[in-house]
Amino acid sequence: MLDYSLFKKINDLFASGQHDKARHLLMEVQSRCIALRDELSMLKVRLKTLEDIAFFAENLHVQDGFYWLTANDVRQGPFCPRCYESEGGLIRLERWQKALHCPYCHAVYPGGRQEAEYQDGAALRHARIIPFAR
Ligand SMILES: [Zn+2]
Repeated sequence: MLDYSLFKKINDLFASGQHDKARHLLMEVQSRCIALRDELSMLKVRLKTLEDIAFFAENLHVQDGFYWLTANDVRQGPFCPRCYESEGGLIRLERWQKALHCPYCHAVYPGGRQEAEYQDGAALRHARIIPFAR
């Protein structure tokens, strides 16, 4: 934590002509500011991670053994259960013949009810990899 009274102390040292002591104290304050900035950056990363976890906890659902993500009233998926459960990655499955295929781990899941839901357009064109670590 930065002690704000140090700024007054530095000012007083300069005002009284003790420039070396003032500079030394100023360098100490600078060092503390850098440490605080680093801590703030780390805390921002942790906050983003926790926000992501909360978002996925609220919006990621399992149906018929596959993961589905609902965001802004749009349901996306299915996502590969193997990739999510092993690495926390959401990898959208691609339709491959009469099955679903993971473009990342190459797992093949027999088609079924999920396949019918999966035939609705743009999702068939590209696999989307959404990185996420649990
Ligand atoms: Zn996979």
